[in-house]
Amino acid sequence: MYIAADDTDSPTWMCTTYLVVELIRAFPEWDLIGLPRIVRLNPAVPWKTRGNAAVAINIGRGKGDGRIIGEVGGRAVRAFPDSSGEPDQEEVMERASAVLGKWAQTDDSDPGLVVCPRRPDASLYQRTVTRIMDREVAIRAVQDAGGSYFQLNKGRGIIGAAAAVAWRPVDRTFELLTYRQQELWGTPRNISVEEVRRLDQDFPSTFNNYDVEAERPAIVPHTTCPILYGIRGDSAFELVMAMRSIPSETVESWLLFITNQGTDDHIIRDWKELTPGSSYEVVGEVIRKPWTMRGGHVFVELRTDNCPVVKAAAYEPSKSFRDAVRALRRGDRIRVLGEVREDLGTLNIEKMEVLYLAPSKIKTANPLCQCGRRMKSVGANQGYRCRKCGTRAREAETELEERTVSTGWYEPPVCARRHLSKPLKRMDIPHRR
Ligand SMILES: [Zn+2]
Repeated sequence: MYIAADDTDSPTWMCTTYLVVELIRAFPEWDLIGLPRIVRLNPAVPWKTRGNAAVAINIGRGKGDGRIIGEVGGRAVRAFPDSSGEPDQEEVMERASAVLGKWAQTDDSDPGLVVCPRRPDASLYQRTVTRIMDREVAIRAVQDAGGSYFQLNKGRGIIGAAAAVAWRPVDRTFELLTYRQQELWGTPRNISVEEVRRLDQDFPSTFNNYDVEAERPAIVPHTTCPILYGIRGDSAFELVMAMRSIPSETVESWLLFITNQGTDDHIIRDWKELTPGSSYEVVGEVIRKPWTMRGGHVFVELRTDNCPVVKAAAYEPSKSFRDAVRALRRGDRIRVLGEVREDLGTLNIEKMEVLYLAPSKIKTANPLCQCGRRMKSVGANQGYRCRKCGTRAREAETELEERTVSTGWYEPPVCARRHLSKPLKRMDIPHRR
């Protein structure tokens, strides 16, 4: 029996993933079937709280080899590959909605809960991670799968909860989350920054651990939520080892999740038109030199293969990534991935591949006249003229510019990355700055 929830958090307190800890506590006589899930949904959705994450678990009577995937309140939590029995749906809904009612924040969120004996159609996930999804469509998909739902406020969380159950992992990563003792919630976290810095080196399958540019651990939240830290990676086993390596305050509970983080699942690759509220992969030719706007945002315009002109931006928080964008020149060919923003109509670059570098000329001097004097500029784009003999010339003396960008992939520093963005490390591509 699947239980899923979304939008139970507020920007300052609680977090949806903690609900899984409380759900596990609420069903002590049942086992987890498979890993709990964290499913990130379309990051372009305007009403998201922090990371637009939904959670889901599947409970039943464990069958097969149960593996320890966490600890809740001093008890080991096991996940089983199969189930030989299911709890009653109505009873599950009753208990789970009580958990939601107790823990969900309702000041500025729209919590939703879904209980489903089967998974809704996979297309529901696909649409929810890439588009703006309608609540009624999600409810219908839940009902088609024999499920039921419960909501607080407007219940927008039902959309994400339904999608989290519908997700069939193709590409997937793991996240190990540790939770703090309740009496410490809201106080500064005690964790060894030095050990966090070593994670990439000691556990190579982990990613997005430490932001070298900001000199800050990226695994520790800044909010007052119950999470102590969360380590992400491709190997569940290494994540447990990594947790054991980090000295910190007492971990009250920890859980291993399967997630769609770092998979680029939100990117639409096959498109005819760019619509705000979704994220795309766009390939095109740079049509003029990039420019920097107030606030340090860097813009570049491309002519794409299937649509006239796209304006793309690397915003200030992407820090050194902007240098690569700024170094582009007219005629270069690039691939950019990112969200098309509603307010500006620009594509917010999450990742870039430089495919081709065009020869770029820079002016070295005004043209030399046949009489031996340097010509003077007549005016912007009007060429040059010799003051002595009147000879005219269009082009100045130039040389090939030495480029400061090379072909290959570029990505922003860790702290500026989206949860869903696939890090270059996962693409077996070394990070460049
Ligand atoms: Zn002359």
